[in-house]
Amino acid sequence: MRYRSTRNENEYVPSARAMINGIAPDGGLYIPESIPALTAEDIAVIGECDYGKTALTVLKKYLTDFSEAELAEMVGAAYASFDVPEVAPLRKLSGEDYALELWHGPTSAFKDCALQILPYFITASAKKTGLDKTVHILVATSGDTGKAALEGFRDVEGTKITVFYPADGVSAMQKLQMMTQEGGNVRVCGISGNFDDAQTGVKRIFADRGMAEELAARGEILSSANSINWGRLVPQIAYYVHSWAALKAQGAPLGDGFNVVVPTGNFGNILAAYYAKMMGVPINKLVCASNRNRVLTDFFGTGVYDRNREFFTTESPSMDILISSNLERLLCYLADGSAEAVKGFMASLSAGGEYAVTGEMKRRASELFFASCADDAETEATIGATFAKTGYLSDTHTAVGIKVCGDYRKATGDARPCVIASTASPYKFPAAVLRAIGGDASGDDPFALIERLEAKSGVPAPKRIAELKYKLPRFTDVCEPSRMAEAVLGAR
Ligand SMILES: *Cc1c(COP(=O)(O)O)cnc(C)c1O
Repeated sequence: MRYRSTRNENEYVPSARAMINGIAPDGGLYIPESIPALTAEDIAVIGECDYGKTALTVLKKYLTDFSEAELAEMVGAAYASFDVPEVAPLRKLSGEDYALELWHGPTSAFKDCALQILPYFITASAKKTGLDKTVHILVATSGDTGKAALEGFRDVEGTKITVFYPADGVSAMQKLQMMTQEGGNVRVCGISGNFDDAQTGVKRIFADRGMAEELAARGEILSSANSINWGRLVPQIAYYVHSWAALKAQGAPLGDGFNVVVPTGNFGNILAAYYAKMMGVPINKLVCASNRNRVLTDFFGTGVYDRNREFFTTESPSMDILISSNLERLLCYLADGSAEAVKGFMASLSAGGEYAVTGEMKRRASELFFASCADDAETEATIGATFAKTGYLSDTHTAVGIKVCGDYRKATGDARPCVIASTASPYKFPAAVLRAIGGDASGDDPFALIERLEAKSGVPAPKRIAELKYKLPRFTDVCEPSRMAEAVLGAR
């Protein structure tokens, strides 16, 4: 399987190169030359409902630079760090609504599903491509990617990692998780700006030839652990494929397929569900759930992507995004692979902050996707109502998904099973969750909130979150977005 840039139809690179580069030299994102279909044999393996086997079945179709034995070893090592043997358990909420819990990894967010395995891909890819440089991973995070990437890459030989997060745009728990990060090859820096500023700054560094030369002289090459990297997306396809078997195992009525609902920010997680659908998993609708930053809801409604709007800081910070990078990959598919069309949209986005797709592209998008959104009040009301009705304690991001799932059912009357991606542990956002279920969320001490949330809900906190209490912050720097390059060069 070879990969091309969304902005170039004529050049192809192997999967190892696509993952090392992260982003294509022309600024586009890598996509596979074709989307592989699941065979009858694959479907039989998937039906065994063994997460590791399903992941291997998916990965070997896309990452053909590696042998099956190599991939099997990576899968085994990556998912051993999860705190449940199922890796991604499917919990029934009520009726035919299910939560696919993706947060049982070391940092309690779904990002672990990809970032526990990405370092293996990157180091193996460096070997395959004959690279004798240190791979310097650069990350802009809206909260969860940063911690998951730090945890994945810490002390991985041949790599180092620098993470930027919006200093006032992540939850107290997310900030603590990053500031206390351990490891000899890690660096964390807050920036005085929002996530889009951090992401734009990182993209600028990637595009800066002078930076690349300076780093090369030091024996380093930059790569990305953001969901623009194909190595981030491909492991995520696996859990949607797996959810099909998990639904079957629970006796869900699958005659007409099922829907997948994804709380969305950078459009990576839902794009992974799109790939699963295109591979042959019987997914009916892809339901895109946004918070008050509803740029995607409006895009699917009108065919116009317009980032010229007020940016809101919400209780679901990992979705506080106005430029959803991975939408570029979907645009490429909707435009029949036309690099010219994608380049036109992206040029228009960077020049005027908006673009409009063609009527045909909008029609195709509406066939595949349904989109809606929830503000903070609706999110909290959903957490409270879901807990009261089903006993399920959801985090703020997942609650956006649950609310939008209800919107979808109301708008369409569709009774098919819905798999809602449960993207973080509620204990990453204890204040909002506690308030939502009628608890006392006063005070600034996140650990007091955790104890109260445990007492009120009866749901235990993940051990690795509770243990943060005993760790000292190592990284307290905050820099201007304009000084991010200096921070990268200053990294040990
Ligand atoms: C990253 C994240 C999201 C958004 O995922 P995208 O792939 O950026 O769309 C949603 N919820 C949580 C908890 C996250 O960490």
